[in-house]
Amino acid sequence: MNTSHAPTPVNPHKAGPPLWLLAELTYRCPLQCPYCSNPLDFAQTERELSTDEWVSVLRQGRAMGAAQLGFSGGEPLVRQDLPELIAEARQLGYYTNLITSGLGLTDAKVAAFAEAGLDHIQVSFQASDPELNNAVAGSRKAFDQKLAMARAVKAAGYPMVLNFVIHRHNIHQMNDIMALCEHLGADYVELATCQYYGWAFENREGLMPSKTQLVQAEQEVNVYRKRLDATGSAMKLIFVTPDYYEERPKACMNGWGNLFLTIAPDGTALPCHSARLLPIDFPNVRDQDLQSIWYDSPGFNHYRGDSWMPEPCRSCDEKQQDFGGCRCQAYLLTGNADNADPVCSKSPHHDRILAARNAADHATAGLTGLIYRNADNSRLFFRG
Ligand code: SF4
Ligand code: SF4
Repeated sequence: MNTSHAPTPVNPHKAGPPLWLLAELTYRCPLQCPYCSNPLDFAQTERELSTDEWVSVLRQGRAMGAAQLGFSGGEPLVRQDLPELIAEARQLGYYTNLITSGLGLTDAKVAAFAEAGLDHIQVSFQASDPELNNAVAGSRKAFDQKLAMARAVKAAGYPMVLNFVIHRHNIHQMNDIMALCEHLGADYVELATCQYYGWAFENREGLMPSKTQLVQAEQEVNVYRKRLDATGSAMKLIFVTPDYYEERPKACMNGWGNLFLTIAPDGTALPCHSARLLPIDFPNVRDQDLQSIWYDSPGFNHYRGDSWMPEPCRSCDEKQQDFGGCRCQAYLLTGNADNADPVCSKSPHHDRILAARNAADHATAGLTGLIYRNADNSRLFFRG
């Protein structure tokens, strides 16, 4: 790594510090979710950063002002050095969050993480029943393990934070999912409808719910919320709707290179975990220090400010609110990441979103038609 401090060029965009650091420790994972946001070609990723290299990343990030740290993957539990990294992060003063499938977790590991100073654990589920959960996850033992580990997390004194990715094959289970969470004693439940990047984009036709399904799901969440309020339950439901049913894009990552810094397993630094799919040369922490990566690298400066914007964003009075939307979505749907996010009804490419909605209304594909996220399928993507 180059940690020498050559004179730092003036950053024309006055970027603030990266307050959120996401450490994608590995792309290895025992599950095969067909909506995984990892890159399609994850199986050709170069060797993972070592413990020492991760410690260096954490130290540099904290010195730059990062305060929130997420450990994710892949499945971060496959890294045997996780307790060491958590302890280092705690000592540096980060607020730490572990994002896990629960596979590979044990009561002893939860205790070790608590001892090392981990602040927060989020466990993901695929469905409310073992059959569907395990079919989507590609593992016969996943559901029981997740249940056990959700309980273990709570027993260790953490809030129970559960995440469900919602798509056309489990959206009919909304009430069952919320009931399961209530039964488990969950504190926070994220019901996140699938967003279409990575494997989810490849499987979009097989995953995207129809408008009718989505409206019904939202109504069910609202009714359930009222019931929770009426019974004095403290469980919080967070329902995240898909971009594809909006008329304006989200302010993606709160602005490119503005708050969020992701480090991929091989050390590639990214402004968001999906950005690797863009035709941009991103820097690597093995070659460059984090300060110069964040403030000075062409990759991170590529979409800062608004001078890069073509019309209609360039002259739009909403550009400070959404920054033209998501660059990955623009690239995946139009082939040019500079374009306005096609989610926007002002985009000349909004027809691509309308076509996807129309396809979702008529889709009939079952679970078996999906491309599951595993190394064999990943290799097909880089063999061409
Ligand atoms: S989405 Fe599924 S396959 Fe992808 S990293 Fe998470 S648990 Fe593993
Ligand atoms: S035209 Fe561009 S800046 Fe304006 S609302 Fe749409 S995406 Fe946002």
